[in-house]
Amino acid sequence: MTTPFHCELQVALSAVRQAALICNSVQAAITDEVLEKKDKSPVTVADYSSQAVICRAISAAFPQDPIIGEEDAAELHQPENHEFLEKIVAELSSAGISETNAENACHWIDQGGAKEFSDRFWTLDPIDGTKGFLRKEQYAVSLALIVNGKIVLGVLGCPNLPFPADELIKGTLYYAVTGQGASAIPLNQDQPAIPIHVTTTGEFSQSRFCESVESGHSSHGHSQEVAERLGIEKEPRRLDSQAKYAVVAQGDAEIYMRLPTRAGYREKIWDHAAGVLLVEEAGGTVTDIHGKPLEFDQGYELTNNQGVIVTNGPLHAGLIEILDELAINH
Ligand code: AMP
Ligand code: MG
Repeated sequence: MTTPFHCELQVALSAVRQAALICNSVQAAITDEVLEKKDKSPVTVADYSSQAVICRAISAAFPQDPIIGEEDAAELHQPENHEFLEKIVAELSSAGISETNAENACHWIDQGGAKEFSDRFWTLDPIDGTKGFLRKEQYAVSLALIVNGKIVLGVLGCPNLPFPADELIKGTLYYAVTGQGASAIPLNQDQPAIPIHVTTTGEFSQSRFCESVESGHSSHGHSQEVAERLGIEKEPRRLDSQAKYAVVAQGDAEIYMRLPTRAGYREKIWDHAAGVLLVEEAGGTVTDIHGKPLEFDQGYELTNNQGVIVTNGPLHAGLIEILDELAINH
């Protein structure tokens, strides 16, 4: 007998792996010159190629399932972006994707164009952490399946995170299925999966937190204030993307704080869904800054939530209490 969501997991793992390897090769080709010019074209090409590969695979295996993806191909249809479209087609062809041409590439990308909630849908961030991607640092390919408002499957491809069981192996594919635990496998090598777990510490003084590199995405000032109040002594680990969820899930940090920087911003479901399930299945806890569970039944935004707080579990209530006391919200 197969376990629940076995087929979905196989399709998702293979699609995210393929997309992450394309992103990896595009990122590796970023030269110093491109870095200096702050040229965004590599991320544009990798982002759309990643969405095309994943939507193509999901739509072929599960044609009824809508996909709420971050991108759509509207801009690619503009004549001035023709050169991007050609580069995307070249990436897809060299990755061995059959029937690749400009029309199909746009069609695959647009399959990720759903916006509304439905009983069963996928959500995709083809490159989460685009700024990290361009800095040649952390980013993630993130895919999750949501059924009746609950995340049931999450896959996170992190090409620049070392495999937790062997730091010399670069690139990790993380995954979780509801009720089945959280696991990691090397992105680019045939090795068995290992289970991952959060830490069990209940002491803030021994804990480490992580947060965004970008202070525009999460308030560094407020997190510092909170850390001081709680007696967290270790320096925060700053990294882009949902790689932060993986870091907590595998026990390399106890906390991930995402504290609102401005009133009215609503978190996007594709920035969190896969990471949330990964941490929960690794034994941790995820809520918003008020301690409310994240609600994935509102469409493409977490309309009823503010910010995100991720912990190993034992530290959660104490952290939410301090956020409340310091009135950290917008
Ligand atoms: P990170 O890499 O954790 O800094 O997060 C990257 C994500 O932040 C992007 O995918 C955006 O969707 C999201 N983002 C953009 N603006 C904001 C904001 N003002 N607050 C929180 N997240 C944001
Ligand atoms: Mg994102």
